[in-house]
Amino acid sequence: MIDAPYPDLLELMELVGEAGKRLSDIDATEGAAGNISVYLGWEIDPRRQFPDSETIVLPYETPALKEKVLLISGSGRRLREIISDPAANLGCLKINADGKTGTLFTSTRRLFNRLTSELNSHLAVHQDQVHQTNTNFHAVIHAQPPHLTFLSHIPRYQDFTFFNNHILRWQPELIVNLPEGVGVIPFAVPSSDELMCKTLEALRVNRMVVWCKHGVIARSDNSVKRAADRIEYAESAAKYEYMNLVCGEPAVGLSRDEIISICRAFDIKQSIF
Ligand SMILES: [Zn+2]
Repeated sequence: MIDAPYPDLLELMELVGEAGKRLSDIDATEGAAGNISVYLGWEIDPRRQFPDSETIVLPYETPALKEKVLLISGSGRRLREIISDPAANLGCLKINADGKTGTLFTSTRRLFNRLTSELNSHLAVHQDQVHQTNTNFHAVIHAQPPHLTFLSHIPRYQDFTFFNNHILRWQPELIVNLPEGVGVIPFAVPSSDELMCKTLEALRVNRMVVWCKHGVIARSDNSVKRAADRIEYAESAAKYEYMNLVCGEPAVGLSRDEIISICRAFDIKQSIF
């Protein structure tokens, strides 16, 4: 939830660009991998930055988002390049009153044909969160950080408890920033209904979820950079875990008692340790 005065569209487009750049800096968006969307629950007129418009049929019904807009990355666009020309790389989708169609506003410099191929998952998660919490802001990011994705290929790391016990032990900040842990969902074909349904359910419980053998998806209801931060924290944890595996597991990380004392000191409620 964001309090008034609300950021304007240009400012938000820049923030999306900065988040994309940071995710690229940590090698989580090779080529055109990854996508970002941001829901804005206040009055926005997109036509100054996005003068062209067309009607599109939504891949998922979003009645909770009707009459509101989302900034969404274009299919095939590189997240690292959004920052150099946000309007050309992003579309601004206003959900129509029926919740089944939307008006896609785009720039005259538009560099994509369609919105991201993971649009169904993005819309489903926004719809679910806005419906449940009535938030006026919601950001969703999919990225492909290599260490997290690598661990998700190892069968024992596909178990929620095993995965979180192992990655959250490497830095005191981890349990503070990811107190409910990172969700883990089995492999599902990209863009599929199966992936969308599993993502929607997992992001109700966790603010970040690993898509096994593919990447991650994270959400935030207060800033797009906060969602990117979650990915960065978890990826740095997975990097420690990877280093430990490569070195023959010489380290044990923070002990359960040490993590519990961190939680006590910072008043963190968690149920992993
Ligand atoms: Zn992907």
